[in-house]
Amino acid sequence: MKIGVLGFQGDIEEHVAATKEALKKLKIDGSVAVVKTPDELREIDALIIPGGESTVIGGLALFNKSLSVIKDRIRNGMPVLGTCAGMIMLANRTYDRVVGETKQPLLAVLDVLVERNSFGRQRESFETELEVSINGLEKLKGVFIRAPSIREVNQGIETLAKLDGQVVAVRQNNIIGTCFHPELSGDTRLHEYFVKTIGS
Ligand code: GLN
Repeated sequence: MKIGVLGFQGDIEEHVAATKEALKKLKIDGSVAVVKTPDELREIDALIIPGGESTVIGGLALFNKSLSVIKDRIRNGMPVLGTCAGMIMLANRTYDRVVGETKQPLLAVLDVLVERNSFGRQRESFETELEVSINGLEKLKGVFIRAPSIREVNQGIETLAKLDGQVVAVRQNNIIGTCFHPELSGDTRLHEYFVKTIGS
């Protein structure tokens, strides 16, 4: 099993470390590599899109022609985990309360409407305990940094976690998106959950 972490911008190394740890805990023989080019993206079995700045990740992915490759691969069933900016990249539509609809390159494979910077800016970042609806994973520490929220969840989408009634993690078949950063929480259980979905 070869898992790629999209390497344009954001907390790439943190995802590499958390994924390696998850593979080790699950005793799964697999590798984790930072990927960027269309060729590298064609060779992986699953992809993680890190948190960071979605306009930068999207702009660079468009520029080097990997955006359409990622989109095709996800549409053809490749498992993908997007965290924070990574989740924004997956969304069909995004807006910001201040500037309105954000015209930015997106993968548009996850049928949700996302509000960017929904919990405020950098200094309003926080950590909190989340209610999670994944078997065996009922509570999780959520690290929120200039985090988005999921405003509309369309048909066929499973809610995985909520915060004060707001949806903050979803799954649509092979696609998992979180508004928070499991890679920064020191807890690899969400990565383990993702790894287990690969090949299933
Ligand atoms: N606010 C960032 C964006 O809109 C996301 C922040 C993050 O990934 N921590 O892309």
